Amino acid sequence: MQNNSILIAGSIALDTIEIGNEKYGNLLGGSTTYAMLAAGRFVPVHIVGIIGDDFPRTGHALFNKYAADLTDLEIQKGKTFSWGGRYHENFDDRDTLFTDLGVFGDYKPKLSEINQKHQYIFLANIHPVLQELVIDQSQPDALIVVDTMNLWITTTLKELLSVIKKITVLLINESEAIMLTKNSNLDEAAKALIALGPNTIVIKRGSKGAILYNSSQKKVSIGVYPIKRVADPTGAGDSFGGGFIAALAQGKSYEEALVLGTATASICVEEVGVSGLDKTTISEINHRKKILQNSLHLENQVNFL
Ligand code: AMP
Repeated sequence: MQNNSILIAGSIALDTIEIGNEKYGNLLGGSTTYAMLAAGRFVPVHIVGIIGDDFPRTGHALFNKYAADLTDLEIQKGKTFSWGGRYHENFDDRDTLFTDLGVFGDYKPKLSEINQKHQYIFLANIHPVLQELVIDQSQPDALIVVDTMNLWITTTLKELLSVIKKITVLLINESEAIMLTKNSNLDEAAKALIALGPNTIVIKRGSKGAILYNSSQKKVSIGVYPIKRVADPTGAGDSFGGGFIAALAQGKSYEEALVLGTATASICVEEVGVSGLDKTTISEINHRKKILQNSLHLENQVNFL
């Protein structure tokens, strides 16, 4: 195992997505899948997760292409996790149409010896109890980045707080940060979140970019890459997380991690499903990074703590 390798845990899914009058079925999706595509060109990615025996050949090919290690990818008899969502016209809101856990229902992630040694771990969106099981099998000094969703704030808050207590970086949407802290002032919300455990909070603001806060009173904001049109917002947060942790595993700064995460998210949303991330090139990602570098805004020693 290389020391810049990362472990990703999350969902691996077959998605059905409705956007306007269009309906796309059986798309390869899941939080792990998007994060793997965003990170896999930069660092060796190890996967922990589960799929059913219905997982299509194209899906297996994608995992073989972007992951360096699939030792802990379990294949079980039964149905792969599937999720359906419908977007509202503004693209910012969506309704979940169905969630079918399939083989995920009884899943407990089990890390093989090699995967217990990672220094960089991305726990993409998944039930917090499963996230915590991965944390508890990992090195105590690993840098752990966690993403979550509003569902877990409303249904499993205690379990989510237990995860948040043990991690390094929390990635969270603006609306989720407000929901969790009951504070709509983002500086104050970030302060409240840091008090729960992580030393760094990244508040994702959709088309307004993202803001990073850390416990040494640093506040850095970034805008978005100006894309022509959003085709499908699914996976934006997951591909942000994949790019973000890949940069950190390469030894880059948190500012550079914000830049790479924003670049990979912009590529993700330009096409339906994972095809944008699959088709892109390193030179396109580098071009976007250069533009995004100029939208970084650093406020050192702000008084938010
Ligand atoms: P995002 O758009 O970044 O929130 O990620 C969308 C992806 O998350 C989709 O590909 C879904 O398969 C996956 N997803 C949706 N709901 C859940 C859930 N409850 N647990 C795990 N993954 C989910």
